[in-house]
Amino acid sequence: MEKQINWLDILIRCRNNLQEQIKPLLKTLDQLQPKLGIGAGGDPIKQIDLVAERAIVNTLKEHEISFTLISEESGIEKYGQTPHDNYVTLDPIDGTTNLVRGIPFYATSIAISTRPTINTIHTALVTDLVHSTTYTAQKGKGAYCNNQKTAPSKTKFLETAVVGIDLNTYKAKKTARKLTNLIQKTKHIRHLGANALELCHVADGTTDAFIDIRGKLRTTDIAAAWLIIEESGAKITTPDGKPINVKLSPKQKVAFIAAANQKIHRVILNLMRLEKEIE
Ligand SMILES: [Mg+2]
Repeated sequence: MEKQINWLDILIRCRNNLQEQIKPLLKTLDQLQPKLGIGAGGDPIKQIDLVAERAIVNTLKEHEISFTLISEESGIEKYGQTPHDNYVTLDPIDGTTNLVRGIPFYATSIAISTRPTINTIHTALVTDLVHSTTYTAQKGKGAYCNNQKTAPSKTKFLETAVVGIDLNTYKAKKTARKLTNLIQKTKHIRHLGANALELCHVADGTTDAFIDIRGKLRTTDIAAAWLIIEESGAKITTPDGKPINVKLSPKQKVAFIAAANQKIHRVILNLMRLEKEIE
Protein backbone atom coordinates (compact mmCIF):
# COMPACT_ATOMS: atom_id res chain seq x y z
CA MET A 1 0.00 0.00 0.00
CA GLU A 2 1.18 3.50 -0.79
CA LYS A 3 2.47 5.46 2.18
CA GLN A 4 0.66 8.65 3.15
CA ILE A 5 2.45 11.63 1.63
CA ASN A 6 2.25 15.12 3.13
CA TRP A 7 2.21 16.83 -0.23
CA LEU A 8 2.18 20.39 1.03
CA ASP A 9 5.31 19.73 3.04
CA ILE A 10 6.96 18.02 0.05
CA LEU A 11 6.14 20.95 -2.25
CA ILE A 12 7.68 23.41 0.20
CA ARG A 13 10.83 21.26 0.25
CA CYS A 14 10.84 21.20 -3.57
CA ARG A 15 10.60 24.99 -3.62
CA ASN A 16 13.41 25.39 -1.06
CA ASN A 17 15.72 23.15 -3.06
CA LEU A 18 14.87 24.94 -6.31
CA GLN A 19 15.61 28.36 -4.78
CA GLU A 20 18.93 27.06 -3.48
CA GLN A 21 19.95 25.48 -6.79
CA ILE A 22 19.13 28.40 -9.07
CA LYS A 23 20.82 31.00 -6.85
CA PRO A 24 24.31 30.68 -8.42
CA LEU A 25 22.84 30.78 -11.94
CA LEU A 26 21.03 34.05 -11.33
CA LYS A 27 24.45 35.71 -11.07
CA THR A 28 25.69 34.51 -14.47
CA LEU A 29 22.67 35.31 -16.64
CA ASP A 30 24.46 38.10 -18.49
CA GLN A 31 27.02 35.57 -19.78
CA LEU A 32 26.58 33.54 -22.98
CA GLN A 33 24.12 30.71 -22.32
CA PRO A 34 24.52 27.20 -23.82
CA LYS A 35 22.07 26.10 -26.54
CA LEU A 36 20.04 23.21 -25.11
CA GLY A 37 17.39 22.62 -27.77
CA ILE A 38 13.62 22.95 -27.58
CA GLY A 39 11.57 21.86 -24.56
CA ALA A 40 8.48 19.63 -24.63
CA GLY A 41 6.29 22.73 -24.52
CA GLY A 42 7.92 24.18 -27.66
CA ASP A 43 10.12 26.94 -26.21
CA PRO A 44 13.96 26.97 -26.24
CA ILE A 45 15.35 25.40 -23.05
CA LYS A 46 17.51 27.55 -20.81
CA GLN A 47 20.00 26.06 -18.38
CA ILE A 48 18.13 27.60 -15.46
CA ASP A 49 14.91 25.78 -16.51
CA LEU A 50 16.74 22.44 -16.39
CA VAL A 51 18.43 23.13 -13.06
CA ALA A 52 15.07 24.15 -11.58
CA GLU A 53 13.39 21.01 -12.92
CA ARG A 54 16.19 18.75 -11.59
CA ALA A 55 15.90 20.34 -8.15
CA ILE A 56 12.24 19.38 -7.94
CA VAL A 57 12.70 15.88 -9.36
CA ASN A 58 15.59 15.22 -6.97
CA THR A 59 13.59 16.31 -3.93
CA LEU A 60 10.74 13.97 -4.90
CA LYS A 61 13.19 11.11 -5.46
CA GLU A 62 14.88 11.76 -2.09
CA HIS A 63 11.50 11.22 -0.46
CA GLU A 64 11.06 7.94 -2.40
CA ILE A 65 7.95 9.14 -4.16
CA SER A 66 6.76 7.36 -7.31
CA PHE A 67 5.40 9.79 -9.87
CA THR A 68 4.84 10.67 -13.49
CA LEU A 69 6.40 14.01 -14.34
CA ILE A 70 4.54 16.24 -16.79
CA SER A 71 6.98 19.05 -17.46
CA GLU A 72 7.18 21.97 -19.82
CA GLU A 73 10.87 21.13 -20.32
CA SER A 74 11.37 17.34 -20.27
CA GLY A 75 7.88 16.27 -21.29
CA ILE A 76 6.58 13.09 -19.65
CA GLU A 77 8.90 10.95 -17.52
CA LYS A 78 8.19 8.17 -15.07
CA TYR A 79 9.92 7.70 -11.69
CA GLY A 80 9.71 4.93 -9.09
CA GLN A 81 7.81 1.63 -8.99
CA THR A 82 4.26 2.97 -9.24
CA PRO A 83 4.51 6.14 -11.36
CA HIS A 84 0.75 6.25 -11.97
CA ASP A 85 0.00 6.89 -8.28
CA ASN A 86 0.92 10.57 -8.59
CA TYR A 87 1.18 13.09 -11.42
CA VAL A 88 3.48 16.07 -10.97
CA THR A 89 2.71 18.87 -13.42
CA LEU A 90 5.54 21.32 -13.52
CA ASP A 91 6.59 24.59 -15.01
CA PRO A 92 9.98 24.92 -13.27
CA ILE A 93 10.31 28.59 -14.24
CA ASP A 94 7.23 30.47 -15.40
CA GLY A 95 8.44 33.70 -16.98
CA THR A 96 11.95 32.63 -18.05
CA THR A 97 12.17 35.61 -20.42
CA ASN A 98 11.54 37.97 -17.52
CA LEU A 99 14.22 36.20 -15.49
CA VAL A 100 16.79 36.28 -18.30
CA ARG A 101 16.09 39.93 -19.08
CA GLY A 102 16.14 40.99 -15.44
CA ILE A 103 12.42 41.77 -15.18
CA PRO A 104 11.57 40.90 -11.58
CA PHE A 105 8.49 38.77 -12.19
CA TYR A 106 8.85 34.99 -12.48
CA ALA A 107 7.70 31.96 -10.57
CA THR A 108 7.79 28.22 -10.17
CA SER A 109 4.60 26.19 -10.51
CA ILE A 110 3.95 22.64 -9.25
CA ALA A 111 0.65 20.74 -9.21
CA ILE A 112 -0.02 17.25 -7.84
CA SER A 113 -2.89 15.13 -9.15
CA THR A 114 -4.09 11.54 -9.05
CA ARG A 115 -4.69 11.43 -12.81
CA PRO A 116 -3.24 13.43 -15.73
CA THR A 117 -6.32 15.70 -15.66
CA ILE A 118 -6.71 19.21 -14.27
CA ASN A 119 -9.75 18.38 -12.13
CA THR A 120 -7.88 15.71 -10.14
CA ILE A 121 -5.27 18.21 -8.89
CA HIS A 122 -5.36 18.09 -5.07
CA THR A 123 -2.28 20.11 -4.03
CA ALA A 124 -0.63 23.09 -5.70
CA LEU A 125 2.18 25.58 -5.14
CA VAL A 126 3.23 28.69 -7.01
CA THR A 127 6.18 30.71 -5.68
CA ASP A 128 7.07 34.20 -6.82
CA LEU A 129 10.84 33.64 -6.97
CA VAL A 130 11.69 37.33 -6.76
CA HIS A 131 9.76 38.14 -3.60
CA SER A 132 9.62 34.61 -2.10
CA THR A 133 5.85 34.83 -1.91
CA THR A 134 4.33 31.35 -1.93
CA TYR A 135 0.76 30.54 -2.90
CA THR A 136 -0.58 27.12 -1.97
CA ALA A 137 -3.87 25.27 -2.15
CA GLN A 138 -5.26 21.88 -1.21
CA LYS A 139 -8.57 20.71 -2.59
CA GLY A 140 -11.41 21.70 -0.26
CA LYS A 141 -9.13 23.60 2.12
CA GLY A 142 -8.88 27.08 0.61
CA ALA A 143 -6.00 29.03 -0.90
CA TYR A 144 -3.11 30.50 1.06
CA CYS A 145 -0.49 33.16 0.50
CA ASN A 146 2.53 32.75 2.79
CA ASN A 147 0.38 30.58 5.11
CA GLN A 148 -2.37 33.21 5.39
CA LYS A 149 -5.76 32.34 3.94
CA THR A 150 -6.32 34.47 0.89
CA ALA A 151 -9.36 35.72 -1.01
CA PRO A 152 -10.04 37.52 -4.30
CA SER A 153 -11.37 41.07 -4.64
CA LYS A 154 -15.04 42.04 -4.60
CA THR A 155 -14.65 44.49 -7.49
CA LYS A 156 -17.69 44.45 -9.76
CA PHE A 157 -16.87 47.16 -12.28
CA LEU A 158 -14.30 47.21 -15.05
CA GLU A 159 -13.98 50.97 -14.68
CA THR A 160 -12.05 50.43 -11.44
CA ALA A 161 -10.64 46.95 -12.09
CA VAL A 162 -7.09 45.87 -12.89
CA VAL A 163 -7.31 43.29 -15.67
CA GLY A 164 -4.50 41.19 -17.11
CA ILE A 165 -4.70 40.16 -20.75
CA ASP A 166 -2.17 37.94 -22.50
CA LEU A 167 -2.03 38.93 -26.17
CA ASN A 168 1.46 37.59 -26.88
CA THR A 169 2.45 36.64 -30.40
CA TYR A 170 -0.41 34.45 -31.45
CA LYS A 171 -3.34 35.19 -33.74
CA ALA A 172 -3.18 38.75 -32.41
CA LYS A 173 -5.63 40.17 -34.94
CA LYS A 174 -8.30 37.61 -34.17
CA THR A 175 -7.77 37.61 -30.42
CA ALA A 176 -7.57 41.38 -30.04
CA ARG A 177 -10.81 41.87 -31.99
CA LYS A 178 -12.72 39.67 -29.57
CA LEU A 179 -11.44 41.78 -26.70
CA THR A 180 -12.01 45.27 -28.12
CA ASN A 181 -15.05 46.04 -25.94
CA LEU A 182 -13.30 44.80 -22.85
CA ILE A 183 -10.14 46.80 -23.54
CA GLN A 184 -12.20 49.92 -24.20
CA LYS A 185 -14.06 49.63 -20.90
CA THR A 186 -11.09 48.69 -18.70
CA LYS A 187 -8.98 51.50 -17.34
CA HIS A 188 -6.09 49.40 -16.05
CA ILE A 189 -4.77 46.67 -18.37
CA ARG A 190 -1.67 44.68 -17.45
CA HIS A 191 0.40 41.80 -18.70
CA LEU A 192 3.46 40.92 -16.69
CA GLY A 193 4.69 37.78 -18.47
CA ALA A 194 4.29 34.93 -15.97
CA ASN A 195 0.78 33.55 -16.28
CA ALA A 196 0.82 31.25 -13.22
CA LEU A 197 1.74 34.19 -11.02
CA GLU A 198 -0.77 36.50 -12.68
CA LEU A 199 -3.52 33.98 -11.88
CA CYS A 200 -2.38 33.91 -8.25
CA HIS A 201 -2.72 37.69 -8.21
CA VAL A 202 -6.40 37.25 -9.05
CA ALA A 203 -6.69 34.68 -6.24
CA ASP A 204 -5.30 37.09 -3.63
CA GLY A 205 -7.06 40.24 -4.80
CA THR A 206 -3.98 42.01 -6.20
CA THR A 207 -5.75 42.16 -9.57
CA ASP A 208 -9.37 41.53 -10.55
CA ALA A 209 -9.13 39.35 -13.67
CA PHE A 210 -6.69 37.61 -15.97
CA ILE A 211 -7.61 36.53 -19.46
CA ASP A 212 -5.86 34.39 -22.03
CA ILE A 213 -8.15 33.40 -24.89
CA ARG A 214 -5.40 32.75 -27.46
CA GLY A 215 -5.56 28.99 -27.05
CA LYS A 216 -1.78 28.93 -26.96
CA LEU A 217 -1.00 28.56 -23.26
CA ARG A 218 0.01 25.08 -22.08
CA THR A 219 -1.75 23.28 -19.25
CA THR A 220 1.64 22.94 -17.52
CA ASP A 221 1.59 26.74 -17.08
CA ILE A 222 -1.74 26.97 -15.30
CA ALA A 223 -2.19 23.61 -13.52
CA ALA A 224 -1.15 24.77 -10.04
CA ALA A 225 -2.70 28.24 -10.34
CA TRP A 226 -5.98 26.65 -11.46
CA LEU A 227 -6.43 25.01 -8.04
CA ILE A 228 -5.28 28.15 -6.21
CA ILE A 229 -7.89 30.20 -8.11
CA GLU A 230 -10.64 27.63 -7.49
CA GLU A 231 -9.84 27.34 -3.79
CA SER A 232 -9.63 31.11 -3.30
CA GLY A 233 -13.25 31.46 -4.40
CA ALA A 234 -12.40 33.28 -7.64
CA LYS A 235 -13.77 31.95 -10.92
CA ILE A 236 -11.95 30.41 -13.86
CA THR A 237 -13.71 29.08 -16.96
CA THR A 238 -13.22 28.61 -20.68
CA PRO A 239 -13.96 31.71 -22.83
CA ASP A 240 -17.50 30.28 -23.24
CA GLY A 241 -18.04 30.18 -19.48
CA LYS A 242 -17.66 26.39 -19.16
CA PRO A 243 -15.57 24.56 -16.54
CA ILE A 244 -11.98 23.95 -17.57
CA ASN A 245 -11.70 20.22 -17.96
CA VAL A 246 -8.46 19.45 -19.74
CA LYS A 247 -5.78 16.81 -19.83
CA LEU A 248 -2.46 17.66 -18.25
CA SER A 249 0.23 17.40 -20.90
CA PRO A 250 3.04 19.63 -22.20
CA LYS A 251 1.25 19.75 -25.57
CA GLN A 252 -2.31 20.39 -24.33
CA LYS A 253 -3.37 24.01 -24.79
CA VAL A 254 -5.89 25.96 -22.77
CA ALA A 255 -7.83 29.24 -22.99
CA PHE A 256 -9.47 30.85 -19.99
CA ILE A 257 -11.13 33.76 -18.27
CA ALA A 258 -10.21 34.07 -14.61
CA ALA A 259 -12.01 36.68 -12.54
CA ALA A 260 -12.24 37.64 -8.89
CA ASN A 261 -15.95 36.91 -8.54
CA GLN A 262 -19.08 35.78 -10.37
CA LYS A 263 -20.17 39.36 -11.12
CA ILE A 264 -17.07 40.65 -12.84
CA HIS A 265 -16.67 37.29 -14.58
CA ARG A 266 -20.13 37.75 -16.06
CA VAL A 267 -19.39 41.34 -17.10
CA ILE A 268 -16.30 40.17 -19.02
CA LEU A 269 -18.08 37.21 -20.60
CA ASN A 270 -20.99 39.41 -21.72
CA LEU A 271 -18.68 41.96 -23.34
CA MET A 272 -16.97 39.19 -25.28
CA ARG A 273 -20.31 37.74 -26.35
CA LEU A 274 -21.36 41.15 -27.62
CA GLU A 275 -18.20 41.20 -29.74
CA LYS A 276 -19.10 37.82 -31.21
CA GLU A 277 -22.56 39.03 -32.23
CA ILE A 278 -21.28 42.03 -34.13
CA GLU A 279 -18.52 40.05 -35.87
MG1 LIG B 1 8.72 27.73 -18.11
